[in-house]
Amino acid sequence: MATPIETVVVDGLALAQEIRKELQEKIAAHLSEGRRAPCLRVVLVGDDPASASYIKGKQRACARIGMDSREHHLPATTSEKELLDLVAQLNADDAVDGILVQLPLPKQIRANAVAEAIDPAKDVDGLSPMNQGRLLLGEPGHRACTPLGCMKILEQQGIPIEGANAVVIGRSAIVGKPVSLLLQHANATVTMCHSRTKDLASVCREADILIAAVGVPKLVKRDWVKPGAAVIDVGVSEVDGTLVGDVDTEGVRGVARIVTPHRRGVGPMTITLLLSNTLDAYEERLGA
Ligand code: NAD
Repeated sequence: MATPIETVVVDGLALAQEIRKELQEKIAAHLSEGRRAPCLRVVLVGDDPASASYIKGKQRACARIGMDSREHHLPATTSEKELLDLVAQLNADDAVDGILVQLPLPKQIRANAVAEAIDPAKDVDGLSPMNQGRLLLGEPGHRACTPLGCMKILEQQGIPIEGANAVVIGRSAIVGKPVSLLLQHANATVTMCHSRTKDLASVCREADILIAAVGVPKLVKRDWVKPGAAVIDVGVSEVDGTLVGDVDTEGVRGVARIVTPHRRGVGPMTITLLLSNTLDAYEERLGA
């Protein structure tokens, strides 16, 4: 019988805090040299409580590291033109380094039209067509925060990526596609899976790195995981008022080399990479 593996349950919050400390020190150094603080503007349209809570979390994180942030809260009835006008105003404002428009948007507003309107240099969420295209081409640009967070976790945990078989479940433009590209650029052999993939379990069993970005509670079971694999759980679903991930975290213990929990896993890293992208945008803007 195979010896059980000591699975590391990754503390994403601790890693996030380490990175935020470095960002805070860099901002303090800029301030001590007489520069203004980096500035992130977040735009919330409507009153979705989950979106409002994400925005509050992002603003708190900004404040803690000395970054300015301001929220623009627009009513749910806002037209696409009104939102595009605000984006144009923020694009033109020299004191703004990063712009984040919280998703989802109300039905009358096309999210792609908004992403396209954000100045790529200020698109710290990395979701504009220009930045997604730059990722495809392997050119510099802001990368989407959650995929970047997944890569940082793999790096920090010392998981070899070059030559590894990576399986990504989910093909969204926010997580699945960009994380697949980041893994390819790091020389992994990547298989992308989705809702029409046949025999998902056997595809997953080949993975040295398995990333689940689906939104189906506990989809990934113990017998889907290759012994020693790195398992990153991006998914978040609500079941009976409780948040649940895409991975059966307890089930994969003793099989996976590492697993990220659905709480204190990828989530804190997503916010941290948003802060990091905003600081990069600021430094580029100021040439500092
Ligand atoms: P999405 O709904 O846009 O995409 C889901 C993908 O999963 C689709 O490509 C679909 O084909 C695939 N899929 C659906 N059912 C499947 C099944 N049974 N088997 C295989 N594939 C299936 O979602 P998204 O925006 O990519 O987000 C995915 C999950 O990650 C959600 O739960 C979301 O809440 C979460 N999320 C978390 C963070 C974070 O910071 N922790 C950030 C972004 C998204």
